[in-house]
Amino acid sequence: MKKKKLAILGSTGSIGVSTLKVVSAFPALFEVTALSAKGNNIKLLAEQIKKFKPAYVSVHDKDAYISLKSSINLKGVKLLEGFEGQLKLIRDCESDMMVIALVGGAGLIPTLEAIKRGKSIALANKETLVVAGDIVMREAKKKGVKIYPVDSEHSAIFQCLNGEDPKKVKKLILTASGGPFFKYGKSELETITPEAALNHPKWEMGKKVTIDSATLMNKGFEIIEAHHLFGISVDNIEVVIHPQCIVHSMVEFADNSVIAQLGVTDMRLPIQYALFYPERMNNNIGRLNFAKLKTLEFFKPDTLKFPLLSYAVAACKEGGTAPAVLSGAGEAAVNAFLNKKISFTGMAKTIKKALNNRKIIKTALLKDVIAAEKWGRKFVEKETKNNAIC
Ligand code: MG
Repeated sequence: MKKKKLAILGSTGSIGVSTLKVVSAFPALFEVTALSAKGNNIKLLAEQIKKFKPAYVSVHDKDAYISLKSSINLKGVKLLEGFEGQLKLIRDCESDMMVIALVGGAGLIPTLEAIKRGKSIALANKETLVVAGDIVMREAKKKGVKIYPVDSEHSAIFQCLNGEDPKKVKKLILTASGGPFFKYGKSELETITPEAALNHPKWEMGKKVTIDSATLMNKGFEIIEAHHLFGISVDNIEVVIHPQCIVHSMVEFADNSVIAQLGVTDMRLPIQYALFYPERMNNNIGRLNFAKLKTLEFFKPDTLKFPLLSYAVAACKEGGTAPAVLSGAGEAAVNAFLNKKISFTGMAKTIKKALNNRKIIKTALLKDVIAAEKWGRKFVEKETKNNAIC
């Protein structure tokens, strides 16, 4: 069997690391041809280079690029620098599939470049579809490029839809863990620290997505992501809180039958499904033990306590540049919270302010959504700059 050539963008982040674990479990089936990383974990990147011997590596941060260059033997590796370096890597490396595991708004342009080159995509970066879902899906269709979801909920839906008639889909039901604070009262939410918010009860993830999970912003983004990936109106996408995180999402069909995908909470599972689709491979990721599980609970989300979920639905309905403003503002709000510039509940407040202050362009071009995303980010940065919440 011919080895599948993989390029992994964002290789030192949580999804990148899990992807390389899947690759390591099937050494005869994959060849890693390219790795890109931001540069905040050069030690790990150096280990990955040694182990997987990619032909191309790109590092976003200049200092990290310089220190990597001087610290390890890079014989046979083309080392590139910065945003442009990553684009060159996408253009030049040989790959059957690109895993896009970049964080936040950084995913959009690389994804579009990969589509332009006709490469299959395993997409873990939801902000790409939040910011420019219409544009990305249109370009992918034009080029005949397949986008395989890596997000666990979207992988679940993708699996539930397998072999089904898309016209018979009534509803997509996204499950949400509810985050660590789903039982908190409104006043208790005010005093949550970044340290507490970074402690997700079920999934181990990067910082941004962990905070977004605690505010339900993540689920809001996932509604927009699902809308674009599966072409379903936002009115037919529902969210239920499911604290056990065993049911990864569900689809309700015309006959009121519901198909769900279940499994242990391990990102290697959706990653493996995307990498091997449509093949199901044996693995040692772990199995469900239903007798031990005993209870699976489901609750309606409380959008008064977690308003970002309804802001995302509203932005998706409004369309145009609204989701891009939401994404940019959301990214800056998470940073401000992590840097103790705003409170936990302050994130929703500043994001709302950004949404209310920006004129939305309905028929948006790429330059419009990029500008809107940047505007959202800058607006929140400015709003929170001089705050000090200790
Ligand atoms: Mg998810």
